[in-house]
Amino acid sequence: MSIINRMPKVSGNLRENAPLGKKSHFGVGGVAEVLFEPSDMDDLVFFLRRIPKDIPVMPLGAMSNVLIRDGGIDGVVIVLGDWFKKVFVEGEIMEVGAGVPCSKLATVAMDNELGGLEFLMGLPGTIGGAIKMNAGCFGSEISNVLVECEGITTSGKVQWFKVRDIGATYRRTNIPDDCIITRAWFRGVSNVNYSIPKKIRELMKQRREAQPIGSRTCGSTFKNPDGYKAWQLIEKAGCRGLKVGGAQVSDKHCNFIVNTGGATASDVEILGEKIVQEVLRKTNVQLEWEIIKLGRKGND
Ligand SMILES: Cc1cc2nc3c(=O)[nH]c(=O)nc-3n(C[C@H](O)[C@H](O)[C@H](O)COP(=O)(O)OP(=O)(O)OC[C@H]3O[C@@H](n4cnc5c(N)ncnc54)[C@H](O)[C@@H]3O)c2cc1C
Repeated sequence: MSIINRMPKVSGNLRENAPLGKKSHFGVGGVAEVLFEPSDMDDLVFFLRRIPKDIPVMPLGAMSNVLIRDGGIDGVVIVLGDWFKKVFVEGEIMEVGAGVPCSKLATVAMDNELGGLEFLMGLPGTIGGAIKMNAGCFGSEISNVLVECEGITTSGKVQWFKVRDIGATYRRTNIPDDCIITRAWFRGVSNVNYSIPKKIRELMKQRREAQPIGSRTCGSTFKNPDGYKAWQLIEKAGCRGLKVGGAQVSDKHCNFIVNTGGATASDVEILGEKIVQEVLRKTNVQLEWEIIKLGRKGND
């Protein structure tokens, strides 16, 4: 029996075999067995409290840091819709839905003359994904501006986390995988002694110059190992421009894998593993994937 027939009666949107890969930033990969877009928080709580426990549930944001494998994702993928895309500002505090794009929060902070969130402008993900990954760039991380966040477990229990309790380190937190972040509170700095729009323009310029913006990519493929830059190791191992099928190591930034057109998730994964092997062979350093690989391989 299809799992769609076992779903609770919700007011949000439920779709079977929903194409995910094409919507991901890589533009590769299979379908979600079921995709659920809750209409609001009550709908999400209702759904999670009633869904049969044997069906796996996973949240996704903008899919800018995930490789959805070609065989797709079993169970339910939850993507937060419009209700979770609101921002409210009171003084220096911004209450932000987890579905809000990072760039929107950067814009709201700028419009309210609150500093410290400029780096978020160039991050293509959502607030939920960015908190989970402790995303960051240009020397700042989202945990530097986060105050606390709200989440709900896949069994429907609402929880709150103060930033000091999420164990934020380089590109990771200890927020449990069974927790869907739904809302967060951020603190900006008023009366900064620099121009916020100018700082944003400068950071975006640096990004455009260094990264293949506009390509189908999920950003940095590997974490920077302690004491090294992943791109330098990849360069040293001779992998710049390396290709597997339609996947290629970017000429512009060799820690980025790009889909040059027609790549499969398998092309991306095989290319990534080749890089890992070559870097280990030539530099004796073990790379760790930053991009999260999800779902079943095409031939599983
Ligand atoms: C061109 C480009 C440049 C990038 N540059 C950077 C950079 O400079 N710095 C950086 O850190 N990252 C960068 N990234 C990666 C990516 O944008 C960030 O990691 C982003 O925060 C991921 O957010 P997302 O919404 O796309 O999450 P997704 O990719 O959809 O998911 C990532 C992880 O978060 C989980 N997740 C998503 N939403 C939720 C939620 N609501 N609750 C709980 N868990 C959730 C998912 O289950 C998954 O494990 C870049 C990506 C691209 C394409």
